[in-house]
Amino acid sequence: MITANNAMQNLPAYLFARIERKIAQAQAEGRDVINLGIGDPDIPTPKNIIDTIAASVYDTENHRYPSSVGLLAYRQAVAGWYKKRFDVELDPEKEVVSLLGSKEGLAHVAFAFLNPGDISLIPDPAYPVYNIATLLANGQPYILPLTEENKFLPQFSDIPSEAARRAKLLFINYPNNPTGAVCDIGFFNEAVEFAKSYDILVCHDAAYSEISFDGLKMPSFMQAEGAKEVGIEFHSLSKTYNMTGWRIGWIVGNKEAIEIMGRFKSNVDSGVFQPVQYAAIEALSGPQDSVSKMKMIYQERRDEAIKGLERMGWKIDNPRASFYLWAKVPPEFTSDSFAEYILEKSSVVITPGNGYGKHGEGYFRIALTADKARIAEAFERMYSVLGKVSF
Ligand SMILES: *Cc1c(COP(=O)(O)O)cnc(C)c1O
Repeated sequence: MITANNAMQNLPAYLFARIERKIAQAQAEGRDVINLGIGDPDIPTPKNIIDTIAASVYDTENHRYPSSVGLLAYRQAVAGWYKKRFDVELDPEKEVVSLLGSKEGLAHVAFAFLNPGDISLIPDPAYPVYNIATLLANGQPYILPLTEENKFLPQFSDIPSEAARRAKLLFINYPNNPTGAVCDIGFFNEAVEFAKSYDILVCHDAAYSEISFDGLKMPSFMQAEGAKEVGIEFHSLSKTYNMTGWRIGWIVGNKEAIEIMGRFKSNVDSGVFQPVQYAAIEALSGPQDSVSKMKMIYQERRDEAIKGLERMGWKIDNPRASFYLWAKVPPEFTSDSFAEYILEKSSVVITPGNGYGKHGEGYFRIALTADKARIAEAFERMYSVLGKVSF
């Protein structure tokens, strides 16, 4: 019999692979499903980016193996974007590496840095990849609870020094998936200080840095004092330019860490298809008006969803960034039973909070990745099922 290794044997299918199966079932029954589950933008990739890939795909030079760390022109475009957006200077040759989407890098970082038994400090709830990759690399996750009381920010002073000493990696993610929480530069400075005292590599996942509302501009981890000494930032074009299917991202920051990741990747993958890199250069260096338009769209959807939740009795602070709403399930439900009930009774897909870790139990997540009318329709349906909820 063919068997996987020990780490794989306990690995469930990825959260959204499981949810996809339930959606397929509901659709097979002929139901009109509104999917507010996975955070996959419904807005198309901007036309200037599509035009660029279309033209470069005919250039036969682009059909060969790309460089595994990315075209220099792509790395220069990333550095240029950081300069313009955050006033951060990066050496495109030594401080930037391309990724096949940031999920790829966030998973591989565990394999490049952890020895068996080394600790990764991982927020909970969180994007599942940090925890899963740590387990697959035979590392040991140490959970940092994100709660309403701590404003969904890990408390470094609560980490026992015994765990901190064994830690090699610290994962953080602001704007945060799934909670929608944000942080300020002060929090990034604290992370740098903490990491310096224990020789930990900070891995900041900045996937949502460009999706913020009400005029808020999110900082980059790289703006923190001393960030390059201890950290790297993962980013991607997926959310900023609606390019989730294109698979391109990057890491920037600490030279040693970037060299290690580049060397790791040169041994396990062969880089991003060059036309995708040229399209990404156009995205980062071309006109940015699509980004402001997208923010307005999400902000309107957020307001629609908040209105729908408040009508049913929820009180939640408007998330100031990301395209997620994170809310408590009604008292008589668990995360799973609520998500199932809502899918069953109203054909609306929401994500159970426990899919992001045990501290997500008792919550659900709504992704604003359907248009405003569909979101309104989803809340009408939920209202007719739930009515007024008391907490
Ligand atoms: C969507 C997302 C990513 C980006 O994934 P890609 O692989 O770049 O498409 C990374 N981190 C978080 C928290 C996300 O939600």
